[in-house]
Amino acid sequence: MYIDDGIWLVDQLSASNVYIVSTGGGAVIVDTGVRGSTPAILNTLHHAGFTPQQVRALVITHAHVDHIGSLPELQQATGAPICASPGEAAAIEGHQPIPHPPGIHGLLFLAMSSATRPQPVAVQHLLHPGGSIPHLPEWRVVGTPGHTPDHVSFYHPEREFLLAGDAVVQMGGLRRSPWIFTSHMPTAKASVALLAGLRLRSAGWGHGQPIVDDATLSQRLAEVARRDRSQSISARPLKWN
Ligand SMILES: [Zn+2]
Repeated sequence: MYIDDGIWLVDQLSASNVYIVSTGGGAVIVDTGVRGSTPAILNTLHHAGFTPQQVRALVITHAHVDHIGSLPELQQATGAPICASPGEAAAIEGHQPIPHPPGIHGLLFLAMSSATRPQPVAVQHLLHPGGSIPHLPEWRVVGTPGHTPDHVSFYHPEREFLLAGDAVVQMGGLRRSPWIFTSHMPTAKASVALLAGLRLRSAGWGHGQPIVDDATLSQRLAEVARRDRSQSISARPLKWN
């Protein structure tokens, strides 16, 4: 599905979103869905006018299995290098477990992730906050940890376009990633506040429909961040004296 100039959302995927961004003459794929998503990704790539050989990079926001599931397959199909932040690369390469929330439910999350994680693959290029994406020099890497320890988002300052991964999602409205999937909640909240400070008109999320050309988008994210703050205040135990 065409979203905006040179940006497509892969059709027919339900677990999580995959984006295709034109480099002018080639394409970068952002995230790869669960295992088995490669045919759908290659189909949208074809409709966007690119061959698999024109894919210049496979860029990953974070190492949850619904974002890296098709990474090995997609690399085989395209031959493109894999780009990820150092912390997420460690999980993609199999040196670390899949990032998971704390506590008992985190162990359950980890067990489910371990059952569906793809084969480890080598990451060829490390992404660092403030740096750019290979072949997309106008796009900046923004460090948005919390959902996972080294989660990154991607931002085009001139177009005011954000690809947020799971730092913010659209599930029943805009919201921070749910606690059941989040490695460290206070950090995740701080990342939402950071994103709300960007000038934004358009954004694509890891889950839910993208929002395009909405002049109130920064305000809407600020509202998500504010809601987080008031929730954490009301969650404090009350002291009567
Ligand atoms: Zn995630």
